[in-house]
Amino acid sequence: MHQYIGGERRAASSGEGFDVLDPSTDETVETVTLAGPDDVDAAVSAAHAAFAEWSRATPVERATVLTKAAALLDERAEEIAQLESRQAGKPIRLAREFDVPGTVDNTAFFGAAARRLDGMASGEYSGDHTSSIRREPIGVVGSIAPWNYPLQMAAWKVLPAIAAGNTIVLKPAEITPLTSLLFAEAFTEAGAPAGVVNVVTGTGPVAGEHLVGHPDVAMTSFTGSTAVGRRVMATAAATGKRVHLELGGKAPFVVFDDADLEAAVHGAVAGSLINTGQDCTAATRAIVHRSVHDAFVRGVADLFAQVRIGATPDPATDLGPLSSRAHQDKVAGMVERARGYAKVVTGGRAPGGDLARGSYYEPTLVTDVPLDSEIWTDEVFGPVLVVVPFDDDDEAIRLANDTEFGLAASAWTRDTYRAGRASREIAAGCVWVNDHIPIISEMPHGGYKHSGFGKDMSAYSFDEYTNVKHVMHDITGEARKAWHRTIFTLPG
Ligand code: NAD
Repeated sequence: MHQYIGGERRAASSGEGFDVLDPSTDETVETVTLAGPDDVDAAVSAAHAAFAEWSRATPVERATVLTKAAALLDERAEEIAQLESRQAGKPIRLAREFDVPGTVDNTAFFGAAARRLDGMASGEYSGDHTSSIRREPIGVVGSIAPWNYPLQMAAWKVLPAIAAGNTIVLKPAEITPLTSLLFAEAFTEAGAPAGVVNVVTGTGPVAGEHLVGHPDVAMTSFTGSTAVGRRVMATAAATGKRVHLELGGKAPFVVFDDADLEAAVHGAVAGSLINTGQDCTAATRAIVHRSVHDAFVRGVADLFAQVRIGATPDPATDLGPLSSRAHQDKVAGMVERARGYAKVVTGGRAPGGDLARGSYYEPTLVTDVPLDSEIWTDEVFGPVLVVVPFDDDDEAIRLANDTEFGLAASAWTRDTYRAGRASREIAAGCVWVNDHIPIISEMPHGGYKHSGFGKDMSAYSFDEYTNVKHVMHDITGEARKAWHRTIFTLPG
């Protein structure tokens, strides 16, 4: 039973089955039934019913639930890591050391943050009134998540929403719904009223569209591709909903001539291969000073050759498969087309032998690319790093910004002024200096440009999930207020 509605598992009313596959073997992990519009309606009703109680819970009551849920998730860490690894094809080491502990920490963070919804201090800003700020939950949030980090994306959506007193219906990607269900159950077990967190496991065009368009859903929060994000925004417009979009990326990785080259090479390998490159902030466009370009390419190619591609349950495996056959075809197609106009230095194929059972793809390094080619401009979302040389700092910044996306970027230099300029001038929601990828619960994540708007994680996310209300109390007690004369003056 794969719908989680009103605090319990239910079968979907559609009865339509869908096999969740392990992309490392193409074996079925579990067959789920897909949510139809009726299931979405039931989940929205459950969330609606829970809103009255949850929105009035005190900060400490909400914090207690979240803190307990963090402990429960931590107790089940290994079980969750195994399931995440299987449904998403993640090497178990990544699931154990990144996905699950990151989610436990995020849950604990929002447990603490639930007690601190900041705003301006109350005060007599007009002189004649006391002004105060209330931060109020919005209502039922409808959230849609992608398949690359199913557990973490569920957490990023659910936690700020419920910490601020909203209730939520989450639709995970249809190919990776399983850990979102375990995640949701932890909140009920931790004492959240039934209906605070609901999960519908269905497809985008059916369950997703219905959730986004639902008149009783007050806000849509979406993480996924830019193309679907635009469609979601259009659907949400019909009911005038607030929208929060976390979309695609094409992160630049800028290596200046004074960089620590060993650090940059290692950073590029980790930054481009994390989660088999299926990471919206992954390093995808290495922009490297011409004087160190060849050494950088040799260094990355050398490390790419040493990366261990293998079975996902093996803790020694570095690189797992892509998330599906369809996605493997997409990545392979982009690299094949690139052979016609660029140089594929290493990789560029699916490994054979035992690994052919899954959607594996080798770490791939591409150079000599035209700047209008798709491998430079479009999201590949695979283990593919493209390297382009530059000659001066102006060109480096220009190339970094030569993209419709603006999610993340990094600058590699020992020169503090160069680092400062890159941090200021690269248009992205995050700029790392001498590193690439680390995220932290206390700090926001979100895009510029076509990477979307709004923030996940951190206290900044409360700006998405609350209404800010100004309350103004007259403190003069006067019937004839001084400011009335601007509007009317009485004779005499
Ligand atoms: P996707 O856009 O194909 O799907 C995302 C979700 O949208 C899925 O749950 C899908 O079922 C749903 N969906 C599809 N059509 C829909 C519709 N018409 N209405 C409502 N929902 C619909 O993305 P994906 O392939 O699952 O994930 C990869 C993408 O996500 C990449 O572009 C990546 O950059 C992006 N991403 C962004 C962030 C970020 O924080 N900015 C994080 C992770 C992933």
